[in-house]
Amino acid sequence: MKRLLFSFIIALLINPILVQGQDSQAGDQSARIMHKKIADSLFVLSHGNTNAVLFIDSDYALMIDAHNEEAGSAAYRYAGRLSPLQPVKFVINTHYHADHTGGNKFFFDSGATIIANMGTYSNLLTSMNEDQIEEAKKQRAELKTALKLEGKTEKGQKLAKLLSQSLLKDLEKDADYPILTFSNNLNWELANETIDIATVSNGHTSEDSYVYFQNKNVIATGDLFFNGSYPFIDLKYGGTIEGYLKNIDALLGLCDDNTIVVPGHGPIASINDLIQYKRMIEYTWKGVSMDFLLNKTLDQVKANKSITAQFDAQGFGKGYMSTSKYVEMLYQEASKKYTKSKK
Ligand SMILES: [Zn+2]
Repeated sequence: MKRLLFSFIIALLINPILVQGQDSQAGDQSARIMHKKIADSLFVLSHGNTNAVLFIDSDYALMIDAHNEEAGSAAYRYAGRLSPLQPVKFVINTHYHADHTGGNKFFFDSGATIIANMGTYSNLLTSMNEDQIEEAKKQRAELKTALKLEGKTEKGQKLAKLLSQSLLKDLEKDADYPILTFSNNLNWELANETIDIATVSNGHTSEDSYVYFQNKNVIATGDLFFNGSYPFIDLKYGGTIEGYLKNIDALLGLCDDNTIVVPGHGPIASINDLIQYKRMIEYTWKGVSMDFLLNKTLDQVKANKSITAQFDAQGFGKGYMSTSKYVEMLYQEASKKYTKSKK
């Protein structure tokens, strides 16, 4: 420990920027955390292009998101270095995805309470138990088919009993740590800041939260904003493109020209970046929808480069969502929306 401290001081003397900007000696060596101070007591801790936020109040600190499992311990140590006197006591998860929640356990083990909205908690549990639940659903379907064949015979009655016992919720295992949940909004009055945590629905996932630091005029959006890349919308877990656009409107309603917008992924942004992002989604969504309504196949839509060309040229397809995956997702949404309305 002393040696670490010693080499830290030496490194600080030699190259202060390097030491302040990178975690080269704590936690997982492969997990490099970078930080940027965005306001007094407020920092963005990045791992690759994923962002978490650290706020340091007078007695304790809190994090918005915890990075993935690989980077969680490095993020925890990094926060401790930026805030040596005020430990991280709370981690607020914006949504359930592992690149934002995988590090929860490191913070929890060190005494922090994890906070999330109900939807995030439920999605976290479901995703943890996904395979098990899929298997159970299959078994239930088989039982139901067998039951139909057997009717009210003795075997049928036994099958019916088995079916009633196979409740899915009983199969779920609990999370590794408790999560404190809230259903809509959480307003938090701290000594030096007022924080609003709001739930929005059916955007990136079934339920996401964004966090607004009122006095500092900073919004941590979670994955309601992928700055500079196409968004991933988790259709399997209740995300929708139209909800996603509405959620962006909710963010825009809070922003003025001076608001600092911290996206879930990508560089720190302003209201204008968010407006451009929304326009990009509207434009591509409209393009794919129109092609769908012209009865074009997915391959034909993908071949229509005019929908995404201007954004591809800016590098939008180089994030988690390639252009191809993004167009596929929009196509899936269009088929859901317009097949229903055609009937
Ligand atoms: Zn996400």
